[in-house]
Amino acid sequence: MRSIGCIFVFNGQSEANLNAKGYSAKDERRILDVLGRGLLKEFPNPSRTGCPGADILKRIASHDMPLSEAEKWLDHLGSCSPCYSDFSQFQATYQRRRTRTILAIAASILIVASLAGWASFLRQKEPLVTQTAVLDLRNRSIPRGTEQNPAEPPLEVSRAARHWDIYLPLGSSEGSYDVRIVTRSGETVAAISGVAKLTDQVTHLRVEVNVSSTQAGTYVLQVRKTGAEWSSYPLHVE
Ligand SMILES: [Zn+2]
Repeated sequence: MRSIGCIFVFNGQSEANLNAKGYSAKDERRILDVLGRGLLKEFPNPSRTGCPGADILKRIASHDMPLSEAEKWLDHLGSCSPCYSDFSQFQATYQRRRTRTILAIAASILIVASLAGWASFLRQKEPLVTQTAVLDLRNRSIPRGTEQNPAEPPLEVSRAARHWDIYLPLGSSEGSYDVRIVTRSGETVAAISGVAKLTDQVTHLRVEVNVSSTQAGTYVLQVRKTGAEWSSYPLHVE
């Protein structure tokens, strides 16, 4: 008897999930009321006259039988103590199984959520390590010396970018290049060297740059073939 209270509190909470065959919480209560009354009256029925059999009790207990079909057994269940006893055992088994299933589903959801969280954490970290910036100088006018062309919009680069892929102006030759990032007042923030390679008619210069601790703002990017004159381009570091 005591276990019934627990079972149906559980049903009440999970009404939407547990009533696939049309058992509303109200139906459950009605069945319980009938059963409860039956039990209180105590019908021993030792010869099991008119009993539906374990299979039917099991199907009602596990909500496997549509309520319309179960209806005709309710009177009997309400007046047969052995059936009630069997029924409550089946019901307890069913609820335990459901609880296990729900817990298993909850555990899978938790695992999936953790994996998703971890993946998104990795995605957030990744750009800091591998983000590549492309600085395209191919269509820029070629300024000489440290003078920049004020009409050109600044190149944009993120402070998170560690790999700078510089496309040198068309016609640039392969070989060793120097790259400098200087403030507008001429102070050097970073100085790197690299080797430019010609691929598909584009002279690429790949350099590793760390400006993560540099303040965001406008700088000057200076590039030269080692030993030659600097070319300057406005650079916006974000
Ligand atoms: Zn019976």
